[in-house]
Amino acid sequence: MNLDNLDIVCYPDPVLRQDARPITEFTPELAALAQRMIELMVQANGVGLAAPQVGIDRRLFVASPTGKAADAHVYINPVLSDFQGAESQEEGCLSLPGITVKVNRPTACHIEAVDINGNPFSHKAAELLARILQHENDHLNGVLIVDKMNTLDRLASRRQLKYLEQEYQ
Ligand code: ZN
Repeated sequence: MNLDNLDIVCYPDPVLRQDARPITEFTPELAALAQRMIELMVQANGVGLAAPQVGIDRRLFVASPTGKAADAHVYINPVLSDFQGAESQEEGCLSLPGITVKVNRPTACHIEAVDINGNPFSHKAAELLARILQHENDHLNGVLIVDKMNTLDRLASRRQLKYLEQEYQ
């Protein structure tokens, strides 16, 4: 894998629709991939980026609620649980430029994952971080914010979605 060529893939690339595979080997290449994903996320002014968004079918994402590399964390093979509350907030996605969707999600959750060395960790998350973790975890299951659009969202985004579909061809 040439990490220099790694780039963010956009809807409707089919890699975004796969059920990503668990990571079983914790190699220097994996650490380099995570590092490169953090760079790409920061460059794109994002707060989260999942491996399928760079064309890699693996259960890994990076998240940084401040958008800064220094605050970024790597989550591998994550499992979310203990969902609490609910709130609708606008979300964007680096794979869906120009589109925002009001997504209703729990406001708090718990996450279990392993780090780039394969060491397990877990913590609770609330507010923005909880939303990012859920959004990125959705990516590992092939779920996008376009799947959560209501009729109004769909109408408002129709032109931009069509544009992205044409760009992909
Ligand atoms: Zn996204």
